[in-house]
Amino acid sequence: MGIYKAEAIVLRSMVYQEADRILTLFTREEGKVSAIARGVRKTTSRLRGAVQLFSHTHLVLYGGRSMDTVSQGDAEEQFSYLEQDLERFSTASYCAELVDRLTQARERQPNVFFLMLSTLRALKDGNPKLTARVFELKLLDILGFCPSLTECVVGNHPYSIETGEQQKRVWFSIEGGGVVCPACAESCEGVRSFSPATLGALGYFLRSPLEQAIKAKLTPQVLRELASLLQDFLTYHGDVRPRSRSFLNAFRDEDAKNGHNK
Ligand SMILES: [Zn+2]
Repeated sequence: MGIYKAEAIVLRSMVYQEADRILTLFTREEGKVSAIARGVRKTTSRLRGAVQLFSHTHLVLYGGRSMDTVSQGDAEEQFSYLEQDLERFSTASYCAELVDRLTQARERQPNVFFLMLSTLRALKDGNPKLTARVFELKLLDILGFCPSLTECVVGNHPYSIETGEQQKRVWFSIEGGGVVCPACAESCEGVRSFSPATLGALGYFLRSPLEQAIKAKLTPQVLRELASLLQDFLTYHGDVRPRSRSFLNAFRDEDAKNGHNK
């Protein structure tokens, strides 16, 4: 691959030997790339700031057989607010982990790069839970796993959730990957019901840019339903059970036990 330039986001950073770090980068040009940053843990390293976790950075890399080497770097954005808030930091980790798990190395996906970038920016002020939900759905959409919201996935006929909005509950099949009309839902096992507002929010997230979608006013019930629907959808269709989410859930449980929860 030789020497090349890349605009990258640092998705993961692991300590390696005495002074190095092994990075998982998501680049605009090359998709996901593993790279080693040598000597970067020394205080004198000029690369140090350019390869910090979640940095948006411009790098020069040498291609290697199993791993590339970072030779120069210049950070464009640092997102330092992520380090000051556990929930924002965990959400960024969770999103980075989803990208890492759902993409193949060296598969060019510039829309994934831009989604990750706008998510890191949105985490400055946006509600982390809502930002994570919008991110999940948009990532599924980019990768070709978007839930069907305009066709009944059991009967394979047009069915709009707008029609469903007159009902108290609407139906969704995780396995089938989309909405189910009331008639088909009656004769089908494993179909779950959600509030119309939950499926309406999915449609709104898909139609709107992330910056606008994360300003949606949603009830706690809709947020809970979205979390459960998208988590089950990701587990079923992407076989993803991210560690960072279980870590955060475990931490919350522990914290609640100690009486620290709001
Ligand atoms: Zn149907």
